[in-house]
Amino acid sequence: MSIQTVNPFNNKVVQSFEEMSEVTLDNLVAQSAEAFESWKKTSYEHRTEMLIKVSKLMRERKAELAKTITLEMGKLIAQAEAEIDLSADIFDYYAEHGPTFLADKYLNPKFGKAYYKQSPLGTILGVEPWNFPFYQVARFAAPNLMIGNTVLVKHASMVPQCAIAIEKLFIDAGVPVGVYTNLLISGKRASALVSDTRIKGVSLTGSEEAGSSIAEQAGKYIKKSVLELGGSDAYIVLEDADIDEAVKWGIIGRINNNGECCVAAKRFIVVQEIADEFLEKFTQQMKNLVLGDPMNPKTQLGPLSSEDAAVHIADQVKKAIDAGAKLLLGGTRTNCEGAFMDPTILTDIKPENPVYYQELFGPVVSYYVVKDENEAIKLANDSSYGLGCSIFSNNIDRAKNIANHIDAGMVTINHPTWTTAELPFGGTKNSGYGRELSELGIQEFVNRKLVRIS
Ligand code: NDP
Repeated sequence: MSIQTVNPFNNKVVQSFEEMSEVTLDNLVAQSAEAFESWKKTSYEHRTEMLIKVSKLMRERKAELAKTITLEMGKLIAQAEAEIDLSADIFDYYAEHGPTFLADKYLNPKFGKAYYKQSPLGTILGVEPWNFPFYQVARFAAPNLMIGNTVLVKHASMVPQCAIAIEKLFIDAGVPVGVYTNLLISGKRASALVSDTRIKGVSLTGSEEAGSSIAEQAGKYIKKSVLELGGSDAYIVLEDADIDEAVKWGIIGRINNNGECCVAAKRFIVVQEIADEFLEKFTQQMKNLVLGDPMNPKTQLGPLSSEDAAVHIADQVKKAIDAGAKLLLGGTRTNCEGAFMDPTILTDIKPENPVYYQELFGPVVSYYVVKDENEAIKLANDSSYGLGCSIFSNNIDRAKNIANHIDAGMVTINHPTWTTAELPFGGTKNSGYGRELSELGIQEFVNRKLVRIS
């Protein structure tokens, strides 16, 4: 895949970028490894100061950075601005809490005294996706830089201007050369890079294929890896839920980021007692969504990130219908030049239908009706993914009990899955392993070094 900015609103190529040569790549890896030797010796106060400078610049440049996001991957402009705020929050969060999280931990051995130190590992490679081009990088880079690791970031080929703008924030903040490095290379070359002895760990957010390729290399060369892959989150609505609230949040949960979100509400599982009422209200709101230019604040649903993504999801919908699913709404692609997919609702999806086990990365809803909560749990867990899940009920104890039985990394009651700096993010099963954000996220790429005094 070539490295290009293509505006998905009109599918026009805006700018193309040269991939880095092998020589440049080798020099940058060497520079990062060398920078680690001095960065790891800097104080927490210094790193805190650097992270705060980055977040401050990010906030100052919010309008221009948000426009770059919208231009390259089609996110609604207000959501792009919110992403910049969230990303800056992540830098502030690790600046504030990092030193406490990384403090020596004192233990109580049977004999003598002991503690463990949390030391940096070295240069860590981050392979990042296009769907949240700033947030995904922030949650990888901020904790690692706080630890004292240096980072190499291979960003998605369709957001090169975002990738370059992020690196510029670090340069302008005065972060030493080599501490944060952007690599303009293909995914394949990123996988190959894992074998490089100067790289000590790798974190990837993206598809299962890319995750599997990275993890294979990480396993072969015995390196720590963190994977945040896809999801097919269940959105369970029980008979005692506030239906209007569940409908409102269901729409937001499905179409946030134009539907291209790993933790989007994808499989709607509604108890039969309220299923008709929910579906009627939900369909009406999906139908009324205003499609258009993502730069226009009035638009409610923008294009997908690329023409390929739109073609792919339209094909999934077609195959689902061919295999017996009923099309309640949409199913077509709006007749305009961009990468649009109409809001779509599919019902009557049986386990034999290919879409039953697939992730739908776009504004397409799979709608299921179940008898009761037990059936809801069974259906929610019948997925190769295990990222997030939402449960809507007015009985919090009941919802908490159901949460105990859900195979996912995150369960949210009465809200779609959401993310903030202080809460851990990650999944189980084919959704990956490891956690980002919160105290857990800063502990992934550290050496917990035991020091024992006998
Ligand atoms: P990819 O997994 O291909 O892209 C994510 C990142 O991985 C990009 O930087 C990409 O680089 C890189 N990459 C691709 N192949 C490899 C490889 N073999 N080794 C190492 N790195 C690699 O996602 P797509 O853009 O193709 O999206 C496909 C699907 O992935 C989506 O429909 C969705 O299901 C899932 N996805 C999930 C995301 C999430 O948030 N969990 C985010 C994005 C996608 P390059 O761009 O150069 O190919």
